Amino acid sequence: MNIEALVVKIASRCNINCTYCYMYNHADQSYKSQPKFMSKETILNLKNKIKNHCVKHELKKFYVILHGGEPLLTDVNDLRYFLETLSSLDKESSINISFAVQTNGILISEEHCKLLNEYDVGVGISLDGNEKINNQYRVDKKGNGTFENVKKGIEVAKKHLNHPIGCLSVVNLEASPIESYETFKSLSFTGINFLLLDENYDTLSNDDIVISDLKNSNWLIELFDYWYKLDDKERLRIRKFEDIISYILGSERGTESAGKGENKIAVVETNGDIEPLDVLKICGEEFTKHKFNLATNELDDVFHSDLIKTYYNSKKYLAKKCLACPVNEVCGGGYLPHRYNSKNGFNNPSIYCKDLLKVITHIQNVIIDDIPNEIIEESGVKKVTYEEALEMIENNIPNIESTGYMDLLESFRKNELITN
Ligand code: SF4
Repeated sequence: MNIEALVVKIASRCNINCTYCYMYNHADQSYKSQPKFMSKETILNLKNKIKNHCVKHELKKFYVILHGGEPLLTDVNDLRYFLETLSSLDKESSINISFAVQTNGILISEEHCKLLNEYDVGVGISLDGNEKINNQYRVDKKGNGTFENVKKGIEVAKKHLNHPIGCLSVVNLEASPIESYETFKSLSFTGINFLLLDENYDTLSNDDIVISDLKNSNWLIELFDYWYKLDDKERLRIRKFEDIISYILGSERGTESAGKGENKIAVVETNGDIEPLDVLKICGEEFTKHKFNLATNELDDVFHSDLIKTYYNSKKYLAKKCLACPVNEVCGGGYLPHRYNSKNGFNNPSIYCKDLLKVITHIQNVIIDDIPNEIIEESGVKKVTYEEALEMIENNIPNIESTGYMDLLESFRKNELITN
C-alpha cells in the first residue's frame, strides 16, 4: 500500500458558503478547530514526509492537489513558499511534484496566475452552470449568488494563465444539461468534471428524488447523447464520460469514484493531520479524525486506520448487490461516502446505484455500436439493457457469499463506532 497523491488544505476556511458544501454544511464541523492557514513548519514537515514516502516506495512522481477551504485565501507569498518548498524535492531527491489547485475562482489575480504558471499548477474552477443555476447553491456568506464574481475570476485566469482551465460542477437537476454544457463552453473551459451531490443513506432529505426516479441518470444520459454526437473539435472533455468509456473498454485504472484500482490518495489538514478522503466527513462528526499528524507520523502510518484501508480498497470491498452486478468493474460500487448508512456502515451499494447502472449500461450500448467487431469480441463487452442488468443482479444475489471484508465495512455502524 502506498500514497501517490495528497489533497492539501493550505487554507481551512472559505470566502463563500455553498449550501451543499461537505466541509462546512454537513455533520462534521471540526474545521472550526483547524488553524486558518498551514504554517511554514507544517509545510516543511509535509515536504519531508513526501520525500520519505517516495524514497521508501521508489516513487519518482507525486501529486499535490490544493483544495478547500478556498486555497487562494492564502497570501500569495505564502503560496509561493509552499510551491517552492515542495518543488525543491525535484532538485534534492529527483522527486517530481505535480500540482493542481481547485478554487471557486473569485479571488484569482494576475499575481496568482503568474505564480501558478511558474510552477505549472493545473487549475480547476468550481461552477454549476449558468447564473440562475449556479446561484441556487453557490452563494456567499450573505446568501447572494456568486456567478458574476466567478465569471470575473475566469476572465482574469483566461487572460493570465498560460494553460487550460478545467471546471468542476455539481449536477443540478433543475438545469438543462445541454444549456449547462454550452455555458461551460462559452466560458472557455477545456474540460468538465461532473459530480453527484454528496449525500448518503443517512443524509438524504428525500429518498425518492435521489434513489427512485432516475433523474440523475436521465440528466447525464441527455448530456452524453448530445456530447457524443458532437464533432471532435467541438467537444469539451467530460471526465465522467471519458472514464466510463475507458473502463468499459477494459482500462485497469480508476478514479476514486469508479473503475478499478486502489485509491492511493489521502488528505492533509492545515494543522498537518493526515486523514482519509474529506468527503467522508458527511458520514458524521469527526468521522475522518485520526491520531496521525505530519509532525510525528510518516504517510505510511495512516494504513493502520480501518477507514483509510476501506477507502483504499473501496472498489474491491463491495456489498453483495455490487458483487452480483454486471457493471461492477466500471462502477466500482460508486463513491464510498455515498454508500454510508449508520445501520450497516459501508456495506451498501451507492445511493445512486440505479442511476449509475442506467448511465453505464446506456453508454456501453451506445459505444458498442461504434467499436469494430474484433475489439468487442476480444474485450468480451456485451450489450445489456438497464432492465436486463437489474434482473441479472436479482438472479445473482442468492449465489453471492459473505466475505471477510464485509465485517470491516459494517464496523463503521454508528453503535460500533460508539462502542469502539
Ligand atoms: S451499479 Fe449499483 S449494484 Fe452495480 S456496482 Fe454500481 S452501485 Fe453496485
